[in-house]
Amino acid sequence: MLRFYNTLSRRKEDFHPVGKVVTMYSCGPTVYNYAHIGNLRTYVFMDLVRRTLKYDGYKVKGVMNITDVGHLLSDGDEGEDKMEVAAKKLKKSPYEIAAFYTDVFFKDIAALNIGKPEIIAKATDHIDDMIKYVQALYEKGYAYETSDGIYFDISKFKDYGKLSRLNLDDQIAGARVEVNDEKRHPADFALWKKAPKEHIMQWPSPWGMGYPGWHIECSAMSRKYLGSIIDIHSGGVDHIPVHHENEIAQSEALEGHKTVNTWLHGEFMLVDGGKMSKSLGNTYTIAQLEEMGYTPLAFRYFCLNTHYRKKLNFTFEGLKAAETAYNRLLNQLYEHKLSAGVTDKEVIDKYRAEFGAAVDDDVNIPLALGILWTMLKEPASKDIYALALEFDKVLGLSLDKAKPAEKEKIEVPDEIRQIAEQRLSARKDKNWAESDRLRDKLAEMGYAIIDSKYGYTIEKK
Ligand code: AMP
Ligand code: ZN
Repeated sequence: MLRFYNTLSRRKEDFHPVGKVVTMYSCGPTVYNYAHIGNLRTYVFMDLVRRTLKYDGYKVKGVMNITDVGHLLSDGDEGEDKMEVAAKKLKKSPYEIAAFYTDVFFKDIAALNIGKPEIIAKATDHIDDMIKYVQALYEKGYAYETSDGIYFDISKFKDYGKLSRLNLDDQIAGARVEVNDEKRHPADFALWKKAPKEHIMQWPSPWGMGYPGWHIECSAMSRKYLGSIIDIHSGGVDHIPVHHENEIAQSEALEGHKTVNTWLHGEFMLVDGGKMSKSLGNTYTIAQLEEMGYTPLAFRYFCLNTHYRKKLNFTFEGLKAAETAYNRLLNQLYEHKLSAGVTDKEVIDKYRAEFGAAVDDDVNIPLALGILWTMLKEPASKDIYALALEFDKVLGLSLDKAKPAEKEKIEVPDEIRQIAEQRLSARKDKNWAESDRLRDKLAEMGYAIIDSKYGYTIEKK
């Protein structure tokens, strides 16, 4: 039985989809910059959930948004629109910025074997849906107008805070210095912002020219493609207190009932034990890791080693260890791939059952990986190889690319190479004493020379 830890109830629950097809909405990127490895961890998590559902035989209809307008510098209502800031800085239009980073994002997720959700919804393509949504909330009395926008009135929604379980008074006490004294409550949030002239992205609305708030984008697009109640909504843990709390408020206010059955949140990635941030210069991209010689799938393997609800501390030692382990996995699998051996059906069934139980237990991929490693210790067999490929439907580690182990490549310093060449000419001159002396000299320096018919190879001792 598939079970997920639901953030809303704070416990693991049996999964019962509403209909025949599982509906899943995943908060997507704000495309004003490159996705960093922390962001990508969240999409690897989304992918593992989708793959687990499919492995269990469910059909999945997934929607992911591309936020290309309305996400302000803070997740609340302060600061400029991130897209506009990037556009000004790079002297491009926000649309060009969005197109560029969306493209890079899709390349990044493809490199990490993250499957694209069935529907990708760009916020700027759905402005009308958002306006209609805001209008409906306004007509129902959940929204009010100020001089700079339309705000959701959280006092009208009695369950506000149920996801984060934050006491509203605590939230107010912790709130930032209020910049907007027209708001009735500090936690009221913008559904629609009236655009100042200089805001490049703006659309006509019943309240004049403006642009949508970030939270309404997800609610409107989820409703449009998946209906008024969905099975799963996913995102990073940072979304719990503001973004998802606000999504719940506006969508339940509109529908009059619960709109998401299971809330799944991926924990954060840290770097060297601390926060990942641009100002600290520790936000790596996949391209940067590749430039340093790491493969994207080694990074995926690194993510898979830690359960999605645990913080994952990124270090280069950790990534290196993941790369080594991943390569070893491919090497061990190769033995099975080449083998004509077979394995008892009971043994195969036992591993299959263990793996299935692990992934069904709130997507416990670290445990599932452990089962794979144990299985590979079995005598070489084509059945083991076939089952590993079956497991790979969840793991997404391209296990069909199993390969033989490579001899460790070594960098031979010039000095060593020169001595080896001197020794080769001594041998050609049949000067065995000199040849042996040079061999000993190389050995003292930590290198072994192996003679062959055509010359020699050098190995590190
Ligand atoms: P953004 O593009 O800023 O909206 O973020 C995209 C996704 O990355 C969101 O689901 C965030 O929750 C997630 N995210 C941001 N920072 C991290 C991090 N350090 N570790 C894991 N996920 C993150
Ligand atoms: Zn969202």
